[in-house]
Amino acid sequence: MIEKAYDLIREGRVEQINNGVYNVVGEHGTYIVVRNIDGSVTCNCPGFTSKRRCSHSLAVMMINQPVLLKSIKREIEREDKWRRTKR
Ligand SMILES: [Zn+2]
Repeated sequence: MIEKAYDLIREGRVEQINNGVYNVVGEHGTYIVVRNIDGSVTCNCPGFTSKRRCSHSLAVMMINQPVLLKSIKREIEREDKWRRTKR
């Protein structure tokens, strides 16, 4: 889930269209993610509706937390390197 959210950011699929409103181009469609004043995030995709979490909302949360984004980036890059050397 985290890697998927990071990919959305890296590929430029998260676009802010208004204050606290984001357009996220997912694999199965484009969704609207809204960031509330209390910091919580809601998405209108089916996954979020049923599970209360999805990669789109996670991507918006990550974009708003640069420190978190940085540590995730480092984590993912380290894993990539590990996978490459194993191959
Ligand atoms: Zn979603």
